[in-house]
Amino acid sequence: MAERLPGLVVSGYGGFYQVRLENAAVIDCKPRGRLKQSFAKIYPGDAVTVSLLDDGSGMIESIGERRSFLTRPNIVNLDRVVIVLAWSLPDYDLLLLDRLLVLAEMAGVQALICWNKMDLCPASSRPVFRRLQEIYQRNGYPVFGVCAQQPDTVEPLRRALGQGISVLAGPSGVGKSSLINVLLGAAHAEVAAVSDRLRRGRHTTRYARILPLGERTADGFLADTPGFFTLSLPDDFITANLPLCYPEFRRCTGCRFDGCMHDKEPDCAVKAAVKAGEIDEERYRRYLRLLQELKDREVKY
Ligand code: GDP
Ligand code: ZN
Repeated sequence: MAERLPGLVVSGYGGFYQVRLENAAVIDCKPRGRLKQSFAKIYPGDAVTVSLLDDGSGMIESIGERRSFLTRPNIVNLDRVVIVLAWSLPDYDLLLLDRLLVLAEMAGVQALICWNKMDLCPASSRPVFRRLQEIYQRNGYPVFGVCAQQPDTVEPLRRALGQGISVLAGPSGVGKSSLINVLLGAAHAEVAAVSDRLRRGRHTTRYARILPLGERTADGFLADTPGFFTLSLPDDFITANLPLCYPEFRRCTGCRFDGCMHDKEPDCAVKAAVKAGEIDEERYRRYLRLLQELKDREVKY
């Protein structure tokens, strides 16, 4: 039997897949017949084993278990989402940021925050940025202040994307495409021309590729298409899960009631922590707004 090599699916279209082997070579592959039946599809991010054929192409023999699944673009085994905001043009919206963080928590992926267009942040507003950076970092979300037009400023973010698969997400106009170009650099430009012919127009938001962020596999991979996130929490979102999506609430123990929603309940450890200044009051207020939104929806159904 031919040797089986481990690989990572980096792109796929119409039954043909590109698989990156451990020596960084990317080969064209087709799935073996029985895989076509047992799996509806193979996606970028899939860990596969391939056997090499005489013509230099490969046959996908098996697909590893999937840890996560993102739609639009369709990518599996996502490790990390970078939530991109702009300092201005458009102005950042912290309620939207918290919504996206909740979605990342629900999806079980690590979230990083990238504040782009920091060239538009005047020196007098720097303390505001540093305060926000401090609040979110304290809760476990690394915060980067960058300017896509000054590639040097993007380096710390690039280093944080080592290992695993990342995707950029955020509202339109904040600079996601600009940042993808900076982060992927030459690798991106090289293949962009070919793929644009293959993936014309509206398909691009669904058929993403993951491209290497460096020469070594350990440098990580980035989707060449920004993630699509609905701005509202999904319809099937369970209200009781909302407080679990806040790292600073998870650390608070000692609410009188199990399943405390940290709203009107007495003897609430979260509210006490807000009062004591240990939890940021503004973020807590935004939490209450999201909670109210979910409750209003429950009444409607
Ligand atoms: P996307 O919709 O999130 O993909 O945003 P784009 O990458 O298309 O960028 C939107 C606009 O913002 C473009 O006109 C960019 O040139 C501009 N832009 C991107 N990054 C920066 C930045 O760091 N500073 C400034 N001033 N403008 C930027
Ligand atoms: Zn509570």
